[in-house]
Amino acid sequence: MPCPGLPSEPATVVFDDDGDLVLNVGSTKCVRYPFGDAQVTHSHNVASAFRVCSRSMARASPVWKRMLFGGFAESKPPSGDWVVNLPDDLPQSMSTLLGIVHAKFDDVPQTIGVQELFDIAVLADKYDLTHLLKPWARLWLDQVWENGSKQYLSAILQLWITWVLGDQSRFVAFAHYLALNMQSEYPFKLSLFTPPDVADRIIKIHHVTIAKLLRPWEEVIFQLSGEDPYAASNGRRRGRCSLSDNDKASECNMLLLRYLKRSFRKAHLYPEFARSIMLGKTVCTVAQNLKSIIIQTPVLDSDHEGCHRLMKEAGSEIDQIVGNVKFTLTEAELTHFRAQGLKTGLGQK
Ligand SMILES: [Zn+2]
Ligand SMILES: [Zn+2]
Repeated sequence: MPCPGLPSEPATVVFDDDGDLVLNVGSTKCVRYPFGDAQVTHSHNVASAFRVCSRSMARASPVWKRMLFGGFAESKPPSGDWVVNLPDDLPQSMSTLLGIVHAKFDDVPQTIGVQELFDIAVLADKYDLTHLLKPWARLWLDQVWENGSKQYLSAILQLWITWVLGDQSRFVAFAHYLALNMQSEYPFKLSLFTPPDVADRIIKIHHVTIAKLLRPWEEVIFQLSGEDPYAASNGRRRGRCSLSDNDKASECNMLLLRYLKRSFRKAHLYPEFARSIMLGKTVCTVAQNLKSIIIQTPVLDSDHEGCHRLMKEAGSEIDQIVGNVKFTLTEAELTHFRAQGLKTGLGQK
């Protein structure tokens, strides 16, 4: 049974009174938005029909030129109406692009939201129309930048937008932001909407940075619990206690371990210091949690003061590790940004 909420399809929108072609864009159906609020997951797409000029489309886009005049199924039939179905495209963003193609600039929005601009970028990329966006690119990018650059899901959308429109510096800023704020439940969304290989690199930075943050603590824990996987490489003795009296040292080590565990539990980083648990957090959260650790170790007596200093040092490099996170573009990506930047006028000086 069809959904009772489905609206009926709207009348044809005319971009050219003498247009020789009708585009049926989108499909009328229920949709679940991947980026909606949890409560608003069900809404409706409605297909639109656009009367357009096939020559204007072919002039604007080499992809459309091939599609309409390249001898494919979409070519003009020998008789009857010329109708092309584009069920996978979104009517609203197509309407914006067709408005530009047909010089109907009233149909081009002056203010735009991040989802709408994302949809336009997807179409512009698909049909090689990015150069048409030159008069609006800077205006639109600035609007969405100001209205939500610091939200995770918005950042994923803007990563793609800046990629298509050729805004290199903001692309790098979003990739960097995502590396520090990636939530483990979302990496699949990240890989859906990023240029090839970029999501993998962002996820890798996330993993490597968390491993770097945890490593000093792991060393301390392993040493205290008597299993030090790094001992062979760094020549450290077992435990943290510097006394040569084995009984006293062992008592000191056990106390340190117990208090360290308590401190980690308070900082939401226990149990087990397991990386799998840490990887469920963002880099920023792990760094914050680690910085909130207060090592409250009881000092057995003044002989043991040095044993605690070592542990405080384990947390001293947190800011530096996070500060050193960098997302670097490949040569191929730099070339891409030069090409896109020329099309939209956003090229780096
Ligand atoms: Zn429905
Ligand atoms: Zn000691």
